[in-house]
Amino acid sequence: MVGRMGPKVIASVGKQILEEANTIREDLHRHPELAFQERRTAGMIAKYLHALGFEMVSERVAGTGVVGLLRGERPGPTVALRAELDALPIREKTGLPYASTCEGEMHACGHDGHMAILLATARVLAGMREIICGMVKFIFQPGEERGGGAGKMLEAGVLSNPQVGAIFALHARPQIQAGEIELDLVPAAASNPFEIRIIGKGCHAAYPHMGIDPIPIGSLIVNSLQQIVSRQVAPYQRAVVTVGAFHAGSRGNIISEEAVLRGTIRTRDPAVQKKIVDSVGRIAREIAGAFGAKVDVRFESGTPRVANTPRLMDLVRQVGVEVLGADNVRDADEVTMGAEDFGCYLEEQGGVPGCLFRLGVETDESVHSAKFDFGRQALESGILMMSNLAIRYLAGR
Ligand SMILES: [Zn+2]
Ligand SMILES: [Zn+2]
Repeated sequence: MVGRMGPKVIASVGKQILEEANTIREDLHRHPELAFQERRTAGMIAKYLHALGFEMVSERVAGTGVVGLLRGERPGPTVALRAELDALPIREKTGLPYASTCEGEMHACGHDGHMAILLATARVLAGMREIICGMVKFIFQPGEERGGGAGKMLEAGVLSNPQVGAIFALHARPQIQAGEIELDLVPAAASNPFEIRIIGKGCHAAYPHMGIDPIPIGSLIVNSLQQIVSRQVAPYQRAVVTVGAFHAGSRGNIISEEAVLRGTIRTRDPAVQKKIVDSVGRIAREIAGAFGAKVDVRFESGTPRVANTPRLMDLVRQVGVEVLGADNVRDADEVTMGAEDFGCYLEEQGGVPGCLFRLGVETDESVHSAKFDFGRQALESGILMMSNLAIRYLAGR
């Protein structure tokens, strides 16, 4: 299993470990669990890490999180590797033999694959403690999809005790070939979900003058929000303002009391982020006020941008070229406006240096599609990347 191409390079993964990783992936895929409810998943992971003889396995971290610590036989720093536990509220349409058995829940973001890769990495590294200089902390966090998981793990102190020197993670990216990796040279987007509640005055539809109709007011707000990106953000900046939900009323002959809009803001630059957040609030308040409605604007805690540490991005590239070949390592030519809560662990948020890289998977269906499946082709690349990154970081090169 441990081939050597130069010092300390894991060049391939044993067939048995790959088979086991795939069995684990299929089992996790069959049994998805939503954010902060990942009890079966967490239990399985903790059991697996215990069986590998981990020095420490903590369960119920930040609810359902699991953290395992593997101690190498040589002294050195600590590196963290992270995967996510949660699935999405999506009805699966893959028709796979290992499709979800939980109605309306699905691993549609590849977290089943991320977990399988990290467990196999744990097995690979547990078998070579003698060459590990320091410790590897395996972080399995809950609730990535609802955006609170990483922040809660951080509050629970997962980056300290022992203090983590760097953190790595991978995420499925269907846009590239299975087994290729891709680096986001510019930060992946920050997200700010919001809710605008317009409180009007209900009445009979035939007597609109007796009420305050929140639907046309909400429509004006939705339309005006479209002008933020087109008119208030410089064309060379990237930003998105989307209203994805607009709920109001129950019948055609009643003017409803309230309308609720829900949306999300995506940005890459903190100054642009602040400007848009302020603008959304201002537009909603002033339009509602102009028509005599009350308004309640709330911003949920979103996720910060993912700003990879350049020197660790270089390490990922170097390891990628060495173990996967230069043809399989790419720089992203598109900017992703998708959000990932991995940014919470990074230096900009008071965390540590780190890098999230992308891994091509078998399907070309988008993540969060009901037909998405991580597949098995990318498992080996993922395991090789994670194992070698840990070894190389700890060895200081
Ligand atoms: Zn997702
Ligand atoms: Zn995801």
